[in-house]
Amino acid sequence: MINPMKPDEYVIGADLGGTHIRVAAVSATGKLSARVKRPSQGSPGYKNVVKNIRSAIKEVALKKKSAPLAIGLASAGAIDFSKNVVISSPNFPGWKNVPLAKDAGSVFACPAILENDANSAALGEGRFGAAKGWDDFVMLTLGTGVGGGVILNRKIWRGSSTSAGEIGHITVNPGGRLCACGNKGCLETTASASGIAASARALALSGDYEWLSGQKRRRGIGRIDTELVARGALLKDPACLKLLRDAGRDIGAAMAAVALALGVSRFVIGGGAAPAFKFMKPSARKAALSMAYTLTGPKLKIVSAGLGDDAGIMGAALLAMERIE
Ligand SMILES: [Zn+2]
Repeated sequence: MINPMKPDEYVIGADLGGTHIRVAAVSATGKLSARVKRPSQGSPGYKNVVKNIRSAIKEVALKKKSAPLAIGLASAGAIDFSKNVVISSPNFPGWKNVPLAKDAGSVFACPAILENDANSAALGEGRFGAAKGWDDFVMLTLGTGVGGGVILNRKIWRGSSTSAGEIGHITVNPGGRLCACGNKGCLETTASASGIAASARALALSGDYEWLSGQKRRRGIGRIDTELVARGALLKDPACLKLLRDAGRDIGAAMAAVALALGVSRFVIGGGAAPAFKFMKPSARKAALSMAYTLTGPKLKIVSAGLGDDAGIMGAALLAMERIE
């Protein structure tokens, strides 16, 4: 990639989440500045989301006292990268083929691009984060769902149907819990933050697990989440440890499938539930190694993400830089 940016020039990277939009200026060396955070919606409706993104972009430019060279937007959901439209998004159920890059990015007369948030995060981690220097790797984000970003030859692999990287929907427990996609036993149902919470709530309700039942009585069932399960694991509660070990095994099974299909042996784990991953990692490694004969101990690398919430902004900005004329 030829990057014609001068030191004082910048592109804008924006990460559109269900609750917040986070926008920042990004320099050629990957330095973030002039950060702005806004609610995504305020009041519901596509027009309001567009209005909020536009005003956040303007505020970044005002702070920088100059216009950006390009704008990159990362959003959850199915994105048609070539057409710059959001086909559909779990965060905004009413959206269908909306031209978000054009509508939100036309604040300035510069190129604007749109990419899936997991793909953007993977690209960001590859260039400036935990996967720096790796040509091929897969990033898994353990959030409300399980997102996936596939990087091959340092580029996002989008597949022919714009849906590559849907690793959260690999079946790891045939006949298991029903997933939002309509299938049963997807990785997302046990290893996402909501999947871990659902498993823990079921154990708490059964009354057979002392620590979790006690937490249910004290806090209410709704407060049992991944963070609490990780705390239980830290206190060596056997039920919490087993639950995270099982989630790790499921992640390892999905990693094995990915490794066998793509020949990838390096993985980055990010997302809101990533802090609990240390309790899942040993079983993830064990499962991946036993299920994929192509993987070996020294070859298999599983690391935690390094950029945190900034990965999506960074990746979107890197894609925007490629559009500078
Ligand atoms: Zn699914």
